[in-house]
Amino acid sequence: MQADKIIGILGAIPQEVNGIITQLKNRSEHKIGNRTYYQGYINDQKVVVVYSRIGKVAAAATVATLLLEFKVDSIAFIGVAGGIHADVKVGDVVVAKNLVQYDMDASPLRPKFEIPLLGKTYFDTDESWSKETCDHIEEMFGLENLYQLITPSELAKFNITTPKVHYGTIASGDQFFSTSEQKNNLQSQLPEVLCVEMEGAAVAQVCYEFGVPFIVIRTISDNANEEASFSFQSFVEEVSLVYGQEIINKMF
Ligand code: SAH
Repeated sequence: MQADKIIGILGAIPQEVNGIITQLKNRSEHKIGNRTYYQGYINDQKVVVVYSRIGKVAAAATVATLLLEFKVDSIAFIGVAGGIHADVKVGDVVVAKNLVQYDMDASPLRPKFEIPLLGKTYFDTDESWSKETCDHIEEMFGLENLYQLITPSELAKFNITTPKVHYGTIASGDQFFSTSEQKNNLQSQLPEVLCVEMEGAAVAQVCYEFGVPFIVIRTISDNANEEASFSFQSFVEEVSLVYGQEIINKMF
């Protein structure tokens, strides 16, 4: 990363970015449109960190503000998601290769999932930045490194033993997945999807339209089924916050 550039770091909920905000050097706060944007430095990298609130509209509005008001040069989204693919387990991390809005449907006028007037269904992340991030996460998941961050007994609470990093497709839409029916339905229509969340593909569309490189990093907090809401709260506080801090520190 180049130190003269500004990077926007975005999560949906406070727990996804609080660990990063508390580490900022020379921190200043700016309130715009019901959001607080925290400007500062991580190592020598100038960043603006914010939580967007939940859903595609909230995320898109926040990204537009980061681009137009704070003039950020690139965007990293960091947060949690529900696992969809059978290989993806709670405690794993998915780095997006591309993202799709599974709730966009202007058929029969346009093919299902295609964004009308853009003629695009999948939005690609920055490939080299994403792959570099996968390498950092792989390193973090070396067990000696991982146990420095989170104790084995803490990990055992969530049945995490040897977490993995995955690189592939993330699906986004304005629904919290908490039934097997939702999960099976998505899987049957978009079988390549690794995980589901509520903001990433909106971030992706705005970044695409402004021509700005971006990445999306999602820790799997739940299995997008009936148990999703039980594990969610404690997971974000005890696991994903710690991963997030470490991933961002390794980035700069
Ligand atoms: N606890 C929050 C609700 C969180 S909604 C509240 O009380 O308001 C879930 C958030 O995590 C969203 O930002 C979404 O992007 C992500 N997420 C995690 N698991 C998900 C799932 N199973 N389905 C959809 N989004 C999920």
